[in-house]
Amino acid sequence: MNLYTKTASELAEMIRNGEVTSEEVTKEFLDRIERTEKKVGALSHIFKDKALEEAKKYDKEGTENRKDYTDRLLFGVPIILKDNIVSKGDLTTAASKILKNYIGTYDSTVVKKLRKAGIPIMGKANMDEFAMGSSNENSSIKPASNPWDLERVPGGSSGGSGAAVAAQQTPIALGSDTGGSIRQPACLTGTVGIKPTYGRVSRYGLMAFGSSLDQIGALAKSTEDLARLLMIIAGYDEKDPTTSDMEVPDYLKNINNDLTGLKIGLPKEYFSEGLDEDVKKVIMEAVEVLKVLGAEVKEVSLPYTRQAISTYYIISSAEAASNLSKYDGVRYGVRKSDKNIEDMYTKSRTEGLGDEVKRRIMIGNYVLSSGFYDAYYKKASQVRRLIREDFENVLKEVDVLLSPVSPTIAFKKGEKLTDPVQMYLADVYTVSANMAGLPALSVPAGFIKGLPVGMQLIGNYFREDLLFNISHKYEQIRGKIEYPEL
Ligand code: GLN
Repeated sequence: MNLYTKTASELAEMIRNGEVTSEEVTKEFLDRIERTEKKVGALSHIFKDKALEEAKKYDKEGTENRKDYTDRLLFGVPIILKDNIVSKGDLTTAASKILKNYIGTYDSTVVKKLRKAGIPIMGKANMDEFAMGSSNENSSIKPASNPWDLERVPGGSSGGSGAAVAAQQTPIALGSDTGGSIRQPACLTGTVGIKPTYGRVSRYGLMAFGSSLDQIGALAKSTEDLARLLMIIAGYDEKDPTTSDMEVPDYLKNINNDLTGLKIGLPKEYFSEGLDEDVKKVIMEAVEVLKVLGAEVKEVSLPYTRQAISTYYIISSAEAASNLSKYDGVRYGVRKSDKNIEDMYTKSRTEGLGDEVKRRIMIGNYVLSSGFYDAYYKKASQVRRLIREDFENVLKEVDVLLSPVSPTIAFKKGEKLTDPVQMYLADVYTVSANMAGLPALSVPAGFIKGLPVGMQLIGNYFREDLLFNISHKYEQIRGKIEYPEL
């Protein structure tokens, strides 16, 4: 069997047992990248030589010399990072023209942790510019394709991360999720993806989109891989004051727990109009599986769901307008015109930023402007609290919520590109977890016409362990996914 078809956990065990080296594994994936990348377009930058150097170095150091348990969990297994996660000496462009030549001057906290755990970095994943989008078509580099059907989108904004894992160019990838950008591409590419609790993973070195919503998370082929990876990257960081100092639990410890008595809530608003009937059928079949495993299922209600999309787009755009004001041609990236400062700002931003990013900046500045602040930003912040309270209330009754991730299967490229509102509606089931700060995971639950469908599990604060447990148990019954050969 080819090494690239194995999960990260399997590879880690093989490396630890001396059956293969990190260098061999890394080389295998780099070769696979070479064979498939033209078709898939999952990557924005590839660090071939550097990755092999890192792998060699880790092989020399050896697994057993890693003192911390977590640093041995994925030792030697290579990774791809979303292109908005800064790493020293590497291109990090957020798939934006304005950062076309930007080379990281430091390691983000997650990258530091990956290095400590002996994980070679093979490259950066394609994405929607500055993580704004749901299809990867907003990338200034190239659109990525869905490995299951190259005519279709892999989702976004971490579409490159999803496509790279599904194309088996990498066993694991990091992504970022502001309103669904890990879960939706995971759903559409048949991979598992987790957005951790807000504050579980340091955002230091993540290019900010909506700071109160952004979380770094991961995508993989199995839940166990995700559990291992999250243990490595999570934890308090003095460089990100929003991180929690709560101890990171051993996510592997309870991953096999029996699900008897588990209470699952199905939010009725997530199963109503707008949801594709076939997607609904797949999700309901998965629910039956969980019942067989001992879970009790009941309907619950999140009444403020109807306001979720508008609230999210007001808050995220407001934060984006502020966060992106630093890309002005002075400090980073591309500078156009040296005539005078006004002209330089205007030209640098006009030429450097794409249409969707400009749209968000305009919405953001509008909702923050003195005449409209109360009506939009302030109101949205109040509704956000109500959305959070909806979740807090139902999570007193049930342990976890289960829902679709995306209302449809992967759509065709170009299908929603000219209609931003249609694109925004694709996020209806994912944005609320970000507004509430809750952890949420997408796990493949079935296929429709050969295209994957994911189901979402939303848990209480810092209950990633429970999400992993349910997802892992479900996977055992569902069985292994055969990814496309390409
Ligand atoms: N699709 C959503 C948006 O465009 C989510 C993006 C994200 O999570 N980064 O804003």
